[in-house]
Amino acid sequence: MDKVLVVTGGSRGIGRAVSLLAAQRGWIVCLSYVANRDAAEAVVREIEAGGGKALAVKGDVAVESEVADLFTAADALGPLGGLVNNAGVVDYAARVDEMTAARLTRMMTTNIVGSFLCAAQAVRRMSTKHGGQGGVIVNLSSVAARLGAPGQYVDYAASKGAIDTFTTGLAVEVADEGIRVNAVSPGLIETEIHASGGQPDRLARLGPLVPMKRAGTAEEIAAPIVWLLSDEASYATGANLTVSGGR
Ligand code: NAP
Repeated sequence: MDKVLVVTGGSRGIGRAVSLLAAQRGWIVCLSYVANRDAAEAVVREIEAGGGKALAVKGDVAVESEVADLFTAADALGPLGGLVNNAGVVDYAARVDEMTAARLTRMMTTNIVGSFLCAAQAVRRMSTKHGGQGGVIVNLSSVAARLGAPGQYVDYAASKGAIDTFTTGLAVEVADEGIRVNAVSPGLIETEIHASGGQPDRLARLGPLVPMKRAGTAEEIAAPIVWLLSDEASYATGANLTVSGGR
């Protein structure tokens, strides 16, 4: 395969696992990061050591010009065939009556606007309507969209609710333009996102409450994402796959 896959937030966590597995499956991976250059470069080196091809590009998904630069960098690697809208943030646990406009703007801009901006760039390249050869988009939602995350981060949950609607709408919008659009909704997954929200003990606390009695791994989310990217999922569009140990 000589197709390029853009993975936003590919330096760590789920995005890192997606980048590594996708490269094994033959994708040329253009992974983005916003701050952690060393981690992103380490993923590139790991892919190259396995015989794959990858590039790390710094860029904030919330900034339109940086998203444009990310996709321009991807263009240099070959024709775009896929996008994983993975970059996302949480925030410190708070009630809605404690949330500020600054917090809400960061959350919604990164998680929602970022995904829209990246998808727009991908559709412009992949849609047969624009002379492209088709492609596939996978959006990262969360079971939080269904659970609401009360007392934790209702704003984050709502941002993922928007991703669910975005997935449904975009999937239908481009269904006859050669592009499939699906979402994966992870449950509690072992990554650094919990510590970034000030709850490094979240996995240990909530893991036993999951029906399967444990948190999942980034690799357990990467596998269904990479499957949705593949031709094995050729009739799946507008789907939202919950991968949550039963939560
Ligand atoms: P993570 O470990 O915190 O990693 C976040 C990644 O996103 C990093 O690569 C980070 O780059 C990048 N990033 C953050 N803000 C960015 C921005 N503004 N622009 C570009 N890149 C940015 O997160 P994760 O747990 O793997 O989560 C990945 C996705 O899965 C998110 O959308 C998250 O909401 C979703 N999810 C996670 C869980 C879970 O339990 N972990 C559950 C459900 C859904 P740097 O390394 O440069 O900071």
